[in-house]
Amino acid sequence: MAYDPANIFARILRGEAPCIKVCETEQSLAFMDVMPQTDGHVLVMPKEPAASIYDVSHAALAACMQTVKTVAAAVQAALQPDGLLIAQLNGEAAGQTVGHLHVHLIPRWSGVALRPHASAPADPAQLEALAQRIREALR
Ligand code: AMP
Repeated sequence: MAYDPANIFARILRGEAPCIKVCETEQSLAFMDVMPQTDGHVLVMPKEPAASIYDVSHAALAACMQTVKTVAAAVQAALQPDGLLIAQLNGEAAGQTVGHLHVHLIPRWSGVALRPHASAPADPAQLEALAQRIREALR
């Protein structure tokens, strides 16, 4: 997948499109998935323009994964899921729909099914409330 600088996550990084931010570092951004597969579904992406695992630099991926670990702990503390699914998709055949590398953090509760991938937009107020709980756990 070639990198298209007009992709939605590149636009978020340039401030051209909105996001519900969870936290930001010099090299990464964590924000709420607008079509969450469960409540509290967070995405973490490197700021480096890379479409997939094959293109990203080791340094940018390492920085991104540090943020993944930090946010994972905050999601666990804030929402207390029974488990946490961490996924990263490369290429359309793997289900990738946005061509800027990102990592999914999807809280799981026993007996609660995953909603379909990238299908139904959530209520923005509910997303903001969940983001706020995660942000508080980051402090
Ligand atoms: P993937 O299929 O791995 O590329 O995942 C892309 C994810 O981005 C999906 O889970 C979508 O629900 C999510 N998504 C798409 N557009 C936005 C957006 N503007 N803000 C936040 N999440 C988005």
